[in-house]
Amino acid sequence: MKEEYLKTIEELYSELDSSNIGLTDEEVNNRLNTNGKNVLISNKKESKILKFLKQFNDLMIIILLIAAAFSFAVSLVNNESFTDSIIIVAIVILNAIMAFLQEVKADKSIEALNKMATPQVKVKRNDVIKKINIEDIVIGDIIVLESGDYIPADARIITYSHLKCDESSLTGESLPVDKNNDNITDNTPLSERTNMLYAGCTVSYGNATAIVVKTGMNTELGKIAKDLLQTKKIETPLQIKIEQISKFLTAIIILIIIVMFVIGLVRGMEILEVIMLAIALAVAAIPEGLPTVITIVLSLGISQMAKKNAIIRKISSIETLGTTNIICSDKTGTITQNQMTVKAIYLNNNLYEKLDKKIKNSDLLNYVFALCNDVSENEEGFLGDPTEIALVKYLKEMGYKPNKLIENCPRINDIPFDSERKLMSTLNMINNKKIVLVKGSLESVLKNCNSYIVDDVTLELNDNVINEIKEKEKYLSDKALRVIAFAYKINDNDNISEDNLSFVGLVGMIDPPRENVDYAIAMCKKAHIKPIMITGDNLNTAKAIAKEIGIISNDDEAVLGEELDKYSDEELMEVVKKYSVYARVTPNHKQRIVTAWQENKKVVAMTGDGVNDAPAIKMAHIGIGMGINGTEVTKNVSDMVLADDCFNTIVTAVEEGRRIYDNIRNVIVYLLTGNITEIIIVFIGMLFGFEIFLPIQLLYINFITDSIPAIALSFEKATDNIMENNSRDINSPFFTKFILGRIFTSTVFKSLAILISFAYGYAYFNLNVACTMAFLCLGLSEILFSFSCKNLKESILNKNIFSNKVLNLSIIILIIAQALILFTPLRNIFKLELLNATQIFITTIIAITVLLLNELSKSLIKKIFKDN
Ligand code: ADP
Ligand code: MG
Repeated sequence: MKEEYLKTIEELYSELDSSNIGLTDEEVNNRLNTNGKNVLISNKKESKILKFLKQFNDLMIIILLIAAAFSFAVSLVNNESFTDSIIIVAIVILNAIMAFLQEVKADKSIEALNKMATPQVKVKRNDVIKKINIEDIVIGDIIVLESGDYIPADARIITYSHLKCDESSLTGESLPVDKNNDNITDNTPLSERTNMLYAGCTVSYGNATAIVVKTGMNTELGKIAKDLLQTKKIETPLQIKIEQISKFLTAIIILIIIVMFVIGLVRGMEILEVIMLAIALAVAAIPEGLPTVITIVLSLGISQMAKKNAIIRKISSIETLGTTNIICSDKTGTITQNQMTVKAIYLNNNLYEKLDKKIKNSDLLNYVFALCNDVSENEEGFLGDPTEIALVKYLKEMGYKPNKLIENCPRINDIPFDSERKLMSTLNMINNKKIVLVKGSLESVLKNCNSYIVDDVTLELNDNVINEIKEKEKYLSDKALRVIAFAYKINDNDNISEDNLSFVGLVGMIDPPRENVDYAIAMCKKAHIKPIMITGDNLNTAKAIAKEIGIISNDDEAVLGEELDKYSDEELMEVVKKYSVYARVTPNHKQRIVTAWQENKKVVAMTGDGVNDAPAIKMAHIGIGMGINGTEVTKNVSDMVLADDCFNTIVTAVEEGRRIYDNIRNVIVYLLTGNITEIIIVFIGMLFGFEIFLPIQLLYINFITDSIPAIALSFEKATDNIMENNSRDINSPFFTKFILGRIFTSTVFKSLAILISFAYGYAYFNLNVACTMAFLCLGLSEILFSFSCKNLKESILNKNIFSNKVLNLSIIILIIAQALILFTPLRNIFKLELLNATQIFITTIIAITVLLLNELSKSLIKKIFKDN
């Protein structure tokens, strides 16, 4: 069978039952039903059973199971019941089930996020162009692509203009390759099939329409995807650190157990008794839940951030986000609304600032507005560049019919806009004349003009006129208007050259700042984060907006991109410190600004929307893509995508990053304090010949009393001053002196409390009561300590103590569980004594004292120990 690239468009139209107006919705549904969605299906999705079994593939769990086996052997030898080992196994299985469920839930939320981040594509159906998710593309669809777009499926090019594609993901060729719609008659290798577009590649320049010939797994990408789809579990630096810590702790604990084993034997204890103690210790001290809890906290964090419009694409960026020092943001669309409205027109030597009626002699300008324009319209509204939408809207409001103009003046050729040239040109057939229509920044347009036109008369351009035009531009841009210049010329052939133009006029359009962006800027400044505005717009417009929202207060904090060309990379390191606004910037400048700040050891977040911004985004610590107006290419290389394109979302994300990190710290302090306390008690008990805690009791504490509040703690809201007070930077260790100091003191308080409870029970009652009081004290102080860990620095003994609803709920559950264990026959399984009111009262008072001590010591610890 002939391959698609060897077929002509007509052949494909008839074979795929399509046409240049696209498929009908009905036909699309049929095809979706028969061929399925346009997705790459990984052939091996990890089975649920395998995932469940994986929960047991963990050093600590294995140790626990060995412990259970020992316990089983001990019972067998002593001819006792097997409750102990059964309970150990039951708790391990319960834990595995919980971890499994949580992992499934986390996977689901990540999947949902992936959906939110799926690329979109423009498609022509029923002669209407609309944007859809790429998975809804079917064979026969007519896709409409422009630079920065992601190619959703294999397709044969129908029309094209200046088309270049990046096919590196498929062929390894790193330079963009030229594409066209030529018919190919001979067999050629993939890399030379110039009339085809391939799924997974991107459009780096120009635009095209194409007919889809293969989707999903049938695409060239699908053929090689089998290897690509093996998803690897990627861990963040923090996760790796935590995993190392818990391995390290495990090693130490095993060492201690061996030491105790020897001590026990030397002291003449019975060997089985020593083994049981070793089991108790292994159970007590090994922080089983640690890595799991961190993973859960992080994935919870991701879905919490998604709700606030920040879609994290790389999980490790959560840690980095909180340490951001510099936010480099685009102006248009991120800081401003990207809702442009034409406010002023300069034409025929007149400046029109009241645009309530048609301007006389404006035919030429109207042509450029309508024709040098790629906007399309469907039921939902306009599709395209907001700058161009503004022009079409203006025409419509004035009562012109842009669609009629487009119909009557077909486009023959064009050169698309790019942010380097800052120009866009088209060649249209207007009244039987070939006319080049140009729009762009004033500098770029004027450079190529040698005449200007006033009331249909062409005049030579001289310095006076140029100054006059520039003055008008300054006047408009001082009012924060974005200024675009227009020009034209008559052509005699089908090629466009952007020179010898006649200047036509200027347009000033307003693009108001987004709501509350000034507040977010102020927040950045409070948090010692430097907000930087980067724009392709002109210097005056940039300054005016930057001042309005508080990025700068002084004109000399703004600079033109070309000024940067004067400096070497080293010099630039100093130069960037002076500026917060960069205007008329090219993508290359963005890269240099990022690098200069990074050389200054700052953590840089950088937004970008255009196809050429991808390198700068890739380079930044936090590369940020735009969900609405960004190109698919930039979204693909970003670490985070803003679902609403809004600057404020970046600031919120930084805050969330800090909150999540803080919460992870809280959780770890909580868990480690518990584990270390248990080890100390078991150890001290052993030295004096007491078995204070039994393995099942410790298992209960570790898996139930500890792990539930740990998860609940990740729902803790940000502290009030989280933006102002943050001493962490990217090089701060996780275990700062402050954290170690906190763990140490809390461990001491808690251990003392348990020992006192034990001693009290032992002195006034008996050993069983003493052990039960110690167990109760451990349980209660863990519960109370979870409140303490809501905030490691400020006391929680204020109105905020019950602010975390999830925590409150889990504490209620735990108190009920604790009561059940103490007051029902469950008591026998846990080998506890029924305590009387006095004993319970005294233990409770001791546990509350620990809470108070922890709270009172907070300010002292904050002062003594450095937290970075
Ligand atoms: P930014 O997105 O940072 O505002 P752009 O690169 O989009 O900057 O635009 C830079 C300049 O290029 C604008 O000030 C304007 O003069 C011109 N420009 C922007 N969009 C278009 C367009 N669609 N066609 C022609 N010129 C444009
Ligand atoms: Mg732009």
